Amino acid sequence: MDRLVEERIAQNDATFRNANERIGAAAGVYDVNMPIPFICECADPTCMEIVRLDLDQYEEIRANSRRFFNIPGHEAAAQGTAVVVAQREGYVIVEETGLTGDLVDALDERNRDEGLEQATAGEQ
Ligand SMILES: [Zn+2]
Repeated sequence: MDRLVEERIAQNDATFRNANERIGAAAGVYDVNMPIPFICECADPTCMEIVRLDLDQYEEIRANSRRFFNIPGHEAAAQGTAVVVAQREGYVIVEETGLTGDLVDALDERNRDEGLEQATAGEQ
């Protein structure tokens, strides 16, 4: 696997995850009790397909920084860097492995926030 391909896939996953993070945060603020339209988090940068998830379903996936949801079949865009770990109604959950897994973990903004808090806590 070409390292550049893995980096591009990881960056793309992280970009969609950040967009969905904002959608999820907005839904949480408005206390939405219906499936929320999230953007498919597959490795195809042109994919704009919608996956409707409850906030709980989204958080289940989002809690693991290596996991993403895809429209069934879209996991092929990851070119073997991700494995399907669960099949659900209307979507699959994939987990990025190897270098791509390490990169998406490092790119997770939630991890970054925790790291910042820890870093600043030591300065006080
Ligand atoms: Zn897709």
